[in-house]
Amino acid sequence: QMLFRIVQELVLFDFSIEILMDSTTATAELGWTVYPAMGWEEVSGYDENMNTIRTYQVCNVFNNNQNNWVRTKYIRRRGAQRIHVEMKFSVRDCSSIPSVPGSCKETFNLYYYEADSDTANKGSPAWMENPWIKVDTIAADESFSQVDLGGRVMKINKEIRSFGPVSRQGFYLAFQDYGSCMSLIAVRVFYRKCPRVVQNGAAFPETLSGAESTSLVAARGVCVPNGEEVDVPIKLYCNGDGEWMVPIGRCMCKAGHEAVENGTACRACVSGFFKSSQGDHQCLQCPINSRTTNEGATNCVCRNGYYRTDSDPPQMPCTTIPSAPQSVISIVNETSLRLEWSAPRDGGGREDVVYNIICKSCGGGRGGCTRCGDNVQFVPRQLGLTESSVHISDLLAHTQYTFEIQAVNGVSDQSPYSPQYSSVNITTNQAGKNHVPMSPSVSPGCWDLRTPDSITLSWSQPDQPNGLILDYELQYYEKSMAEWNSSVVRSQTNTAVIRGLKPGVIYVFQVRARTVAGFGRFIQFFFLFCYLFAEEYKSFFQEKLPLIIGSAAAGVVFIIAVVVFVIICKRRSFERPESEYTDKLQHYTSGHRMKIYIDPFTYEDPNEAVREFAKEIDTSCVKIEQVIGAGEFGEVCSGNLRLPGKREILVAIKTLKAGYTERQRRDFLSEASIMGQFDHPNIIHLEGVVTKNAPVMIITEFMENGSLDSFLRQNDGQFTVIQLVGMLRGIAAGMKYLNDMNYVHRDLAARNILVNSNLVCKVSDFGLSRFLEDDTSDPTYTSALGGKIPIRWTAPEAIQYRKFTSSSDGWSYGIVMWEVMSYGERPYWDMSNQDVINAIEQDYRLPPPMDCPSALHQLMLDCWQKDRNNRPKFSQIVNNLDKMIRNPNSLKAMTPLSSSVHLPLLDRSTPDFSSFTTVDEWLDAIKMGQYKENFANEDFTSFDVVSQMTMEDILRVGVTLVGHQKKILNSVQSMRAQMNQITSVEV
Ligand code: AMP
Repeated sequence: QMLFRIVQELVLFDFSIEILMDSTTATAELGWTVYPAMGWEEVSGYDENMNTIRTYQVCNVFNNNQNNWVRTKYIRRRGAQRIHVEMKFSVRDCSSIPSVPGSCKETFNLYYYEADSDTANKGSPAWMENPWIKVDTIAADESFSQVDLGGRVMKINKEIRSFGPVSRQGFYLAFQDYGSCMSLIAVRVFYRKCPRVVQNGAAFPETLSGAESTSLVAARGVCVPNGEEVDVPIKLYCNGDGEWMVPIGRCMCKAGHEAVENGTACRACVSGFFKSSQGDHQCLQCPINSRTTNEGATNCVCRNGYYRTDSDPPQMPCTTIPSAPQSVISIVNETSLRLEWSAPRDGGGREDVVYNIICKSCGGGRGGCTRCGDNVQFVPRQLGLTESSVHISDLLAHTQYTFEIQAVNGVSDQSPYSPQYSSVNITTNQAGKNHVPMSPSVSPGCWDLRTPDSITLSWSQPDQPNGLILDYELQYYEKSMAEWNSSVVRSQTNTAVIRGLKPGVIYVFQVRARTVAGFGRFIQFFFLFCYLFAEEYKSFFQEKLPLIIGSAAAGVVFIIAVVVFVIICKRRSFERPESEYTDKLQHYTSGHRMKIYIDPFTYEDPNEAVREFAKEIDTSCVKIEQVIGAGEFGEVCSGNLRLPGKREILVAIKTLKAGYTERQRRDFLSEASIMGQFDHPNIIHLEGVVTKNAPVMIITEFMENGSLDSFLRQNDGQFTVIQLVGMLRGIAAGMKYLNDMNYVHRDLAARNILVNSNLVCKVSDFGLSRFLEDDTSDPTYTSALGGKIPIRWTAPEAIQYRKFTSSSDGWSYGIVMWEVMSYGERPYWDMSNQDVINAIEQDYRLPPPMDCPSALHQLMLDCWQKDRNNRPKFSQIVNNLDKMIRNPNSLKAMTPLSSSVHLPLLDRSTPDFSSFTTVDEWLDAIKMGQYKENFANEDFTSFDVVSQMTMEDILRVGVTLVGHQKKILNSVQSMRAQMNQITSVEV
């Protein structure tokens, strides 16, 4: 029975009610205050369950003009804004009382009075409406006419009234009788609240109902541990009845956790299970060949020897490298060959198996095998073959080759083992049709500055001599003379000294090799001339270049390179650097077959890649002068390099600090293996490496002005637009070259462009290690799944699913354009990386930097197209910039902000002056802080005067640099515009 009672009470218990006062729980007298003394009277009685209770009764129905008050004790409000009063009472039916006068009533009044403390006494508050506030007149639903034999009241009424808002610390209630016969059996005072609850994955705190019965009080939920809000902040509203309603938002268990206990808790996935994203779904069992390392796994790591690519979904089994291709067949035809094979027995669990062909020629006199040169042709291609056959041509006659057919798939590059392959040895038979020696390749000649009338030219042996080279023939003639007038020099070695050259004359040189089969083709043109005749040289180029290129395309003349030498003819021009000419002109190099970049990490032994692509330099040739920067692996120094027989040159030397691991050495040198494959005037040039002695070094050409971002910041506003576009053109040309080589840079940014003394910009930084997960040194690179990413420079698809392509390099190029045009401003200023990602997602784009021609900003916007296929190719960018340089008028138009098709981000190049209190602060903000004193001296110290400044004023304060004048004038104009806006708003 006891248990039944407890259960009954629990069922009846209303969690939405908080009792402030209950007369039925009084154990002694209630002791309420009555007025007058002969009115209400406290009497003991019984409730319906026969519990003793204290009641108040009054029954002065025979006397007229009754006004009897009873006042409760002080009741504390306890935060409630609306108070509910439940009254149980009985009222005697007037008609049942014999000879009762007409003044008999069957109602009473309920009042309340607010007070901050219990200060009431017998006479105060006065016993009348006002100060008391009336809640209602209360009538009985049922009155009674007699008392039963046990003396118990038979008809009990229950009424509830509420009032609010209440705001003082507490209140009193009063019941006014004006001539009834009644008994106040029980008074319960309470307020309503919404109890603490867990709903939609979040916990809501206990919340009191509002002041009105219709009020809704908002409560903010807190996700249960390991839950996360989805989209909007999660909320519930508490209504006047203490009920929760209108749920907004929800929480879901985060990755690695699943909902349990009816969605009221998030539990970590147990071992062997994972959940990769936030959501309602349950943890999944690890796919085949993977496992978890701890509870709460967001993904399952692959077992040793098994891998996933970045694009493999986490529920896909881990896969491994394929076995070797099978049943290789070779069919040799003179110097061509067809290879066929069948698919590997085991594709490693993947569908994306492709094949690479490694060609090695053996027994070429040097013993052992070496990789074939670039001239061997593979159809359809050498690497990434999807079909299982390849046609190989242009092999050397009577030569033994080994071909390795590697099977690789999407995870091969993650395996520490080199790909499995099948190999086949073949020997070519007949000599090819081309019996003449191939063209030699040229390296710049040397000249002796003490005898400026002579030059030593050297070249290297052809890759495919097609027989013994008997000698070389070098022809040269004065550019102004006809070619048949040329002089001929024969040389059995690959050098020749030419004497008796006339200063100030342009010479054309060409060289060819001879075997028993005859001469090869002439391949080089050397122009020798004195810089004083640069104009003449230029016109020569303008006339001849289209011809040269045209005929090369037609296959008549095969030009591998055009190299320009400048002979220093006069002593006084000694300091003139020759690079000015080479840099400017090397980009006319044309017509040579493009190589494809080879990832050094595809080599079984990355040291082999270094040997193949980087020249080993003897430490004794290197002289370190001073430290100029800090690289990732050690100091970067400047110094000199003097190679035997060559002139000393300035170089940059990257060193590998002592105590390196084998992996660090490999990663450090990988940059050289990559750089060494490139040869372009806008790509930093590798001189060589020192690997045989400590410290290990990478030696590159020296770039006097260091990295582009800091160079621009140091020279803010000091270049013409054409100069800036010239720099951008160089970078685009370098990127076009990399793109043609199939190389994706992934980290194109002004900090990775170097600038030489002629303002030539060169793409650098081919290191890979900054992308690796465990390098935490640089905050520019944000950790992302599968590596680190420089968020502000990176295209959205590369951030989202690591799709790095030359189109994503194109996006970065747009950012570099913005950096250049804003003189090294930080892209997206101080926005957080997450804000940048969100803004880009919502189609916001950087606005044009100050003074940026609209054509350039349009090009940036084109580079930032969401669909990467719509971004311009680097070749188009180069053409576009060339057109602008040729037609500087096209750079005059400036973008009005609103005309942009994309939503521009708030332009911060001219900050809102109203956020500064002094002119000094404003000058700092527009990066013109160096003129603070000048402004103060001329009394430009308030925004009112500054906003009226003219160009003359700016000159008068002593701003002489045109770029700075423009910047200040622009900011002054924007200040004036902002002021006008403010006044018009105020008006
Ligand atoms: P890096 O490790 O390539 O980022 O080089 C670190 C710093 O050394 C760069 O920011 C440059 O200031 C400087 N530096 C690197 N290479 C060269 C170079 N070839 N010529 C001049 N300075 C260089």
